[in-house]
Amino acid sequence: MKPYQHLLVAVDFTESIATVIERAQQIAGTDQAKLSLVHVIEPAPVDFLDQTMLIDINLDDLLKKSADKQMQTLAEKYAIDMADCHLGIGSVKNEIFNRIKELQVDLLVVGSHGRHGLGLLLGSTANAVLHGASCDVLAVRVND
Ligand code: AMP
Repeated sequence: MKPYQHLLVAVDFTESIATVIERAQQIAGTDQAKLSLVHVIEPAPVDFLDQTMLIDINLDDLLKKSADKQMQTLAEKYAIDMADCHLGIGSVKNEIFNRIKELQVDLLVVGSHGRHGLGLLLGSTANAVLHGASCDVLAVRVND
């Protein structure tokens, strides 16, 4: 079987993502593959915001700054170049699919469960990306 060349790990900044990245690094090491990370910022629903807050802050900017910082922490911890850490904004599934194409990824690695997945057999993101990904998908079992 042909070794993988480029792994993409979808990261959500929960504690359990460590298990997912470590598994991906193990595979990338064996296959001598490149490893990239992607995090997708889901824009806050406007209804959620109090009108008075809108005057003073741009929530999307805050979310982006916070995501940048968390991505940097992961990049340092796992010795991944920041050039290989990507941020997207919008639909998690669509942004992940876009990166798969753009970066010519041949293995997408996600956690079986994260924030949206508690109580589900398979978290909603893992479930969503299984349908329609143009490459292999590995759902690393977490939170059992
Ligand atoms: P969940 O859908 O919250 O159960 O998350 C399952 C897995 O999907 C996580 O372990 C991550 O690998 C991935 N994931 C969830 N949310 C995001 C996000 N906003 N950006 C990138 N990956 C995500």
